[in-house]
Amino acid sequence: MTYDPSNIFARILAGDIPCNEVYQDEHVLAFHDIQRQAPVHVLFLPRGAYESSQDFYSTAPPEEITALARAIAKVADQLGVVAAGYRLISNHRHDAGQEVPHFHIHLLGGAPLGAMLCPPAPTK
Ligand code: AMP
Repeated sequence: MTYDPSNIFARILAGDIPCNEVYQDEHVLAFHDIQRQAPVHVLFLPRGAYESSQDFYSTAPPEEITALARAIAKVADQLGVVAAGYRLISNHRHDAGQEVPHFHIHLLGGAPLGAMLCPPAPTK
């Protein structure tokens, strides 16, 4: 997979573009989505150059994968969505509608989120 270093999340990670930060550590940056789809909509990014879930989960060192998972759990707790519930989404490439080619996980919550897919994707 080829990583495009000029994508907008790479520029946010480099500090060239601001974000509404929620959390950061050595491996992870999290910030509010600019076009939120729910009362809580936070994006979690590894700092490393991964295009999507496919290369991140295939090639990232275990400490980076663990850091991302722990950051999600910590921020979900801080934002108060653990008891009521939340949804995690990660889009890989065009069939999933991935817009930004730097791996990220959406955390959505703060209200009932409805059906997982709306409208449902056609079955083959
Ligand atoms: P995806 O379709 O999974 O690639 O999601 C990309 C997400 O990034 C969308 O929900 C956008 O609203 C969000 N987004 C794009 N640019 C920015 C930005 N500068 N700051 C925060 N979120 C952004």
